[in-house]
Amino acid sequence: MMRRVYLDHTATTPLDPDVFEAMKPFFSERFGNASSIHHFGREARAALDESRDTLARLIGAHSGELFFVSGGTEADNFALKGAGAAMLARGMSHVITDKSEHHAVLEPCGHLEKNGFELTYLPVDGLGRVSVSDVLGAMGPKSGLLSVMHANNEVGTVNPVAEIARIAKERGVVVHSDAVQSFGKIPVNVDELGVDLLSLSAHKIYGPKGIGALYVRRGVEIERYLHGGGQERGRRAGTENVPLAVGFAEAAAVIHRRMEAERVRLEGLKDRLRSSLLRRLPGILFNGDQSPQGSLPPILNVSFDSRLIGIDGEALLFNLDLAGIAVTSGSACTSGSMEPSHVLLAMGRDEETARATIRFSMGRSTTEEDIDYTIGVLSDIVQRIGKVRSSHLSS
Ligand code: PLP
Repeated sequence: MMRRVYLDHTATTPLDPDVFEAMKPFFSERFGNASSIHHFGREARAALDESRDTLARLIGAHSGELFFVSGGTEADNFALKGAGAAMLARGMSHVITDKSEHHAVLEPCGHLEKNGFELTYLPVDGLGRVSVSDVLGAMGPKSGLLSVMHANNEVGTVNPVAEIARIAKERGVVVHSDAVQSFGKIPVNVDELGVDLLSLSAHKIYGPKGIGALYVRRGVEIERYLHGGGQERGRRAGTENVPLAVGFAEAAAVIHRRMEAERVRLEGLKDRLRSSLLRRLPGILFNGDQSPQGSLPPILNVSFDSRLIGIDGEALLFNLDLAGIAVTSGSACTSGSMEPSHVLLAMGRDEETARATIRFSMGRSTTEEDIDYTIGVLSDIVQRIGKVRSSHLSS
């Protein structure tokens, strides 16, 4: 059987079998509607409340500040559109974000822009980090909302959210942070970060797909997102998805118990991957912060320097897939052609280099053998399809 190596845990993770077991009864015998007042409803409500408590505790929040939604995308949309509408009512119309955000933030920002808001997209530095002084410079009298992600999903760089939030809050600006990738991998505490709104998603942490949460600090104004019944304290209508909420909380509890041990293990694997890449592959560049404290442990993002080697990123991924290795590049496939990653372009990579990119994202199943196999296969592919451009490299 062909060897399969899954190195795309940033895209999604497999459901933890213990999480699946915890969820099962809520699909069948404990199926009640959490809004019903009879026994079945109360049983579902108790499980929902307990799940909310668990998640809130893990981020240092109160249960009443956490709203279940359908995933990270909805959490980001809820935060930006909901807080945007509320600030408009206060006469504020300027929203600040940055160029390296996930599309789940950039697209709602574009939507706000079309609807009369003024948007500022801050640059990021060569490591993919937003600078505190740029935030300071961007704020004006109409600024009401700022959204800066905790850690980047492509390169893993962690932003100085606490410092950014401190200066924004001093000016009365509401602060949102997308913590979809950082949650469960590094500590995420809403008070330490100083954020007002925080997005989470379950399927990045071995939980089920289709559920996430938005943290809303007490007292922060945000318009209701879905109109309908009074679920989620009137903010997000729709029958509560109890099995998924139970799975989300269980996955979060498990990943937090294992977080430190897994961090050390993944840092070790990342070092192994990084040093083998450097030794064996020509023209390799590392994208994002390479320090353990400045980046997420599971992510290593590399490009081939276009000045030294020409390589087609799509062919690279295709050949890796043929050998059973699942990775991704940050490129988006738009109308059949690969668009270079907006994150890498914002970090200053040229288009060709940005296209020749691989994001490795490791997880619980990743072993040293997986890393060694991947390096071997990748070296062969690069030798086969890469065109060396520098005499320095071919010597
Ligand atoms: N934000 C970030 C940083 C992400 O990486 C993702 C998913 O890749 C999302 C938001 C969207 O989350 P979901 O897939 O739960 O909608």
